[in-house]
Amino acid sequence: MIEGELKKLGDLYARMDLEYEKVSAVYGLTCRGCDENCCSQRFHHHTVAEYLYLLEGLKAAPAELKRTIVRRARIVVESYVHELQAGEIFKLMCPANFDGKCALYHWRPMICRLHGLPHFFIMPDGVRKTAGGCHRVKGESTASLDRTPFYTELALIEKALREQLGFKERFRKTTAQMIMDMSLELDFDEI
Ligand code: SF4
Repeated sequence: MIEGELKKLGDLYARMDLEYEKVSAVYGLTCRGCDENCCSQRFHHHTVAEYLYLLEGLKAAPAELKRTIVRRARIVVESYVHELQAGEIFKLMCPANFDGKCALYHWRPMICRLHGLPHFFIMPDGVRKTAGGCHRVKGESTASLDRTPFYTELALIEKALREQLGFKERFRKTTAQMIMDMSLELDFDEI
């Protein structure tokens, strides 16, 4: 049951990646050599579905990598407290990023997949929201990624999963916070 929804999410992610490739090709956009790694931005994720999918990736990682990711996540989450004390936001790299590359790439959440391109989405009330691309998208906006079907499908998967799990709480976490929660679910005696 839960596996079925996660399979649907995997298929949805594959379609996101394909669509991203098509639109990024219009701009000749690649992340190679970028001086601003998006993984140091503070992304919040909003679905239990993506949490469970990322958890699969963490479970599949070799033990030492798993330990390192959890240790780094702890440092990042602790830094959030220091931020509050300092009254400023620190630029913190995602704990899954090693030398500019995502160690959980196959399992990464939606926003990690869609960030960077000009895009739009149609809200349930019909209002169209648009946003520009990252600093590497040059010139006139000639193509825009339609996020509407992705948001809609993810919401359906999330609804089905929440019903199965009886989960009713609000979900809003960074990758580091999700990984800290995951560490409680896994056998991490040695961390
Ligand atoms: S999960 Fe991966 S792609 Fe997403 S911010 Fe972390 S390192 Fe980057």
